[in-house]
Amino acid sequence: MSGFGSILILSGPSGAGKSSLIKAAAGEIGDFYFSISTTTRAPREGEKDGVDYFFVDKESFEADIRAGEFLEYAQVHGNYYGTSLKPVREALEAGKLVIFDIDVQGHAIARERMGDLITSAFVTTPSLAELERRLRKRCTDDEETIRRRIENALVEVEYISAYDFLIVNDDFEKAVDDFIAVAKAARLKKGRKQALAFVNAWRNTAG
Ligand code: 5GP
Repeated sequence: MSGFGSILILSGPSGAGKSSLIKAAAGEIGDFYFSISTTTRAPREGEKDGVDYFFVDKESFEADIRAGEFLEYAQVHGNYYGTSLKPVREALEAGKLVIFDIDVQGHAIARERMGDLITSAFVTTPSLAELERRLRKRCTDDEETIRRRIENALVEVEYISAYDFLIVNDDFEKAVDDFIAVAKAARLKKGRKQALAFVNAWRNTAG
């Protein structure tokens, strides 16, 4: 049915492999729109404005908050991160699966606002030690940033039970298969409006 998209929220510690999973599964999960967040954090090596994030300063982010532009926003590791409402609405109207990579606070807010459209999965490494190893291997963050990311991860795992699914990224191929299954299920999720439209159309076929 066109015009009724749904949302898949992925959360989990930085370094758990959320973006790698999305990239690896992209060809297998049908037409989707990845919601590009806006952030006040500085771009990492290789990140592009408008591709990985929209990179803005604090003043511009706060102006957008006041203008009601965000579906949700939160402060993570001392920076603002937020999801703009307009492109998400457009993608939903186009019937797409919209994928968010947002933190646990954003997940809670989005659930309150659009819960009937949302499927969620928490992605993590098999252990804290493995997370630490991957963050160090990535070499894009200084020691202080790595420490903050680990502290944040320790808080985030407390929220796993608020998610529909848990994807443990140990064997990457297996994690990709799990992610594909979750994305396919997310696409089948129907919101209140879609359910109503279906029931009306279904009833109207009686001879
Ligand atoms: P990173 O700095 O590693 O790209 O992201 C740090 C954290 O911010 C990750 O947990 C990521 O999921 C989260 N994040 C990214 N974009 C958003 C957003 O738009 N809203 C919220 N609430 N969190 C976000």
